[in-house]
Amino acid sequence: MNERYSRQILFTEIGREGQQKLLDSRVLIVGCGALGASHAEMLSRAGVGNIRIVDRDFVEFTNLQRQTLFKERDAAERLPKAIAARERIGEINSEVDVDAIVADVNQSNVEQLIDGVDLVLDGTDNFQVRYLLNDACVKHAKAWIYGAAVSSYGTTMTIIPGETPCLRCIFEDMPDAGSAPTCDTAGVIMPIIATVSATQVSEAIKLLVGDTGALHRSLLQFDVWQNDRHAIKLGAPNPDCPACGLHSYEFLDAESQEFAAVLCGRNAVQIAPPNGTKIDLESFAGRVAHLGDVKQNEYLVRFNEGENEITVFRDGRAIIKGTDDVSVARSLYARYVGT
Ligand SMILES: [Zn+2]
Repeated sequence: MNERYSRQILFTEIGREGQQKLLDSRVLIVGCGALGASHAEMLSRAGVGNIRIVDRDFVEFTNLQRQTLFKERDAAERLPKAIAARERIGEINSEVDVDAIVADVNQSNVEQLIDGVDLVLDGTDNFQVRYLLNDACVKHAKAWIYGAAVSSYGTTMTIIPGETPCLRCIFEDMPDAGSAPTCDTAGVIMPIIATVSATQVSEAIKLLVGDTGALHRSLLQFDVWQNDRHAIKLGAPNPDCPACGLHSYEFLDAESQEFAAVLCGRNAVQIAPPNGTKIDLESFAGRVAHLGDVKQNEYLVRFNEGENEITVFRDGRAIIKGTDDVSVARSLYARYVGT
């Protein structure tokens, strides 16, 4: 074992045996924004051998204040976050195998994404994906670590299906859209990201090395500005919980996914076509060339239409910036990409 991990091996709770477990581990990070980028950096430095990162978005300059893996060049080139993360991790620890997936997480792919990993870290920014992830992880008895941060406030909880309460044991219903503050309405500061992500990754490492006695087993809440810290001790799972008690996976089994979604913090809407859609970006770039100022890289094509900036990915998804009106976004998508 190389000297890279010597200080971590000296930490007796990990030791040589724990380090080998980390090297042999596989972790999925869902969402590579502020929390996810921080998870990815800490896990790759710790030597977690295989990290799968899924994210639907690309790097922007507004991300650089808190999304530690990314650089100005990534924002200038509009690299997808999963790809930029893989490149940066390659520079941090070339021994880590990174599986970078540029995609939206939905009913059609979530079970495939969690397949084969030892645990899942929540780096997403929305409850639709968290409830879906909870269903999938409970169904397949996979540990996942919930985390959220906005403004100076954050929260986290470690979920081990069958052993601890799941997300729906605690919050049975998904909060209504628009009812909670978002990074768009309330902003966010880096220290709360660091606090929540460090707590999540500590729990992940405990689970991966098998030190389950050290888990905090609480719903933890922090406010780094108001100097508050609460730990609500968690008991047993709720036997009447729709997900882990009754095994009814309402989010996973929902008939159809939302075709259009307003993105947190972006003044943007994502349009997602059915799975399996593929776009030939080269010929697509040719079709919109007359609009002028078409930018293209290996993963996406971006162009402007009036006030709106439209980014189209290979899987047919588009992010339409400059509006949070789904009908405006749908009509732009239909006009330029097709339906
Ligand atoms: Zn439950």
